[in-house]
Amino acid sequence: MITLPGSRPPCALTIAGSDSGGGAGIQADLKTFAAHGVHGLSAITALTAQHTRGVTAVHVPPVPFLRAQIDACFDDFEIGAVKLGMLASAEVIHAVADALEAYRPPHVVLDPVMVATSGARLLEADALDALRGRLLPLATVLTPNIPEAELLLDARIADSAAADAAVPALRALGAEAVLLKGGHLDEGDEVIDRYADAATRSRYRHRRMDVDGHGTGCTLASAIAANLCLGIGLPEACRAATDYVHDAIRRGYAPGRGSVRVLDHF
Ligand code: PLP
Repeated sequence: MITLPGSRPPCALTIAGSDSGGGAGIQADLKTFAAHGVHGLSAITALTAQHTRGVTAVHVPPVPFLRAQIDACFDDFEIGAVKLGMLASAEVIHAVADALEAYRPPHVVLDPVMVATSGARLLEADALDALRGRLLPLATVLTPNIPEAELLLDARIADSAAADAAVPALRALGAEAVLLKGGHLDEGDEVIDRYADAATRSRYRHRRMDVDGHGTGCTLASAIAANLCLGIGLPEACRAATDYVHDAIRRGYAPGRGSVRVLDHF
């Protein structure tokens, strides 16, 4: 960690779920923060029993305990950015929104986690309205993948033109900026992530890698939060995070019995 003697490192807080398999969720977030030289804090919304092939059980601790974790972090640390991941239920979303409204951190990166790649539901179906109504207006940047964007917009995104049109439509839901991840879309041998804020529209392009990746969305959002903590501007924080994830997938490895790869964060 690069800090001057006596100075404090920047702190990023992840409010997300735990992945016992170590590939996604809080575990991916803390590795990403560490790789960026940022001190990582965590408030755990849900515990998943999980390996690289799927989720076998989910436990959501009582919401007052989640609030106690968030309060403990804001009571003692200068928090430069908050990353939101798996939020499990509408009740959790309301508690997180209440806390963010009370503490007003400088940046909030919202990864609208809904369903894992393995098919497991990570957000109850009735929580979508709470996510739209309470959290999107608090978000500095929203980072949906294509299926999540389709649920948020209640519209199909089948091709490049639909993805282009989805970006302003997503921004209109309230976040300051949107980074729409293109991995689920067939755009040839490239993956195109589309970024927009009030002033800028960009596309970040990377060569498509033919791998089953796990934890990529969590890693991208926490890399953006780490970059924002380090004082990097929003478009560059997002662009650099897409490069970081691409490299981490390329170096990734399969720690379980199947072919699913987790990222190499370092
Ligand atoms: N488990 C947890 C706790 C998560 O937060 C997430 C995604 O955000 C996942 C699993 C899903 O990861 P993936 O879809 O990359 O397999």
